[in-house]
Amino acid sequence: MYMKLKCFICGYEVYGDPLTNTQCPRCRGILAVHYTNPVFKIDSRGKGVWRYSSLLPDVGERISLGEGLTPINNVGEIYVKNERFNPTGSYADRSSAIITSVLKVRNIDTFTILYEEDFTKSLTHYTHFVGLKPSISIPRIDLVDLDDILFFISRGIDIVFDNKPLNTLVIKYLNPLTVEGLKTIAFENYESRIPVERVVVPCETGLLALSILKGFKELKERNVDVDYEVVAVSIKNRGCQLLNNVREVKVVEVGDREVFEALREAYEKGFKTKPLSALSLYIAENIGKSLAVVTMGFKTVTSRESAVKKLILEILSQGKPMTAYEIWKTKPIYTLRAVYKAIKDMENKKEICFEIVSKGRRKIKVYRLC
Ligand SMILES: [Zn+2]
Repeated sequence: MYMKLKCFICGYEVYGDPLTNTQCPRCRGILAVHYTNPVFKIDSRGKGVWRYSSLLPDVGERISLGEGLTPINNVGEIYVKNERFNPTGSYADRSSAIITSVLKVRNIDTFTILYEEDFTKSLTHYTHFVGLKPSISIPRIDLVDLDDILFFISRGIDIVFDNKPLNTLVIKYLNPLTVEGLKTIAFENYESRIPVERVVVPCETGLLALSILKGFKELKERNVDVDYEVVAVSIKNRGCQLLNNVREVKVVEVGDREVFEALREAYEKGFKTKPLSALSLYIAENIGKSLAVVTMGFKTVTSRESAVKKLILEILSQGKPMTAYEIWKTKPIYTLRAVYKAIKDMENKKEICFEIVSKGRRKIKVYRLC
């Protein structure tokens, strides 16, 4: 199945197999599928990413496990696109749907996936679903996420080591079909019509940012009114290579200290996520009017939240009505912000009661058990 492919960087065009033609022969940039005269039409009955089939490769078979249309939540001043709600908990599922469709229709049953966190697990899950069994190439076992290894074992998947030359079809994360899957995030962003000016994404290689940029550009070419800036966030000098010559994506690089602060803030809001995803949230909040894409592992830390609430109830059970600040001050083991947030939540759920009392000329709010 040949497709017209075009280099992101230099515009070089080639007609080739998107599974094997992944890099521009002229500048080593990433190749992407190019459409000559497509339209943008939402197919509300299309399953998963195929909702946007009018701007996806026409592959003849449409495999989907219900990926995409992930929720967009309002968190404080920003919006969060939560990719954890994909079938394997990762944004990569969007691409796996397309790659698996191509493998299935071409009846390719011997192939190797180069290991890449999230991507390999996702593609293995999809291909397994349609009865295809890949083998997986791993450079070093200690570089692989433990959950991923256990996942491969549970599926009876064979693993190849030592970077041995492979005589099968090799599928890498960086390929034109991955781009096609990931760009659907841009379409969903457009469809949701949330009032933001930019989309902030984590950047390891830069492929996600490029894909979303491609999605927005295609909409513009189809005269769809979209105007979003794409912002890629990464840790200084660690990655984002694909964006080196791309002026249309703004790259924000920060040091380890800020990544730690980002993780701390995410945790205090009750979220557990990977460093780069936490960083997207952090940067989105700092620049405002943003949608942050959280690629995976975005969970609510319920146990900590309930621990804070338990402590508040314990303090109030002593019988003395207190202000939120006084409650925190009694046992300041959590942050003031976490205590305020828990009190507000408990107040809304009527788990604690309050009254307004006068203190001198001021009116203050004191809490007590109901
Ligand atoms: Zn090129």
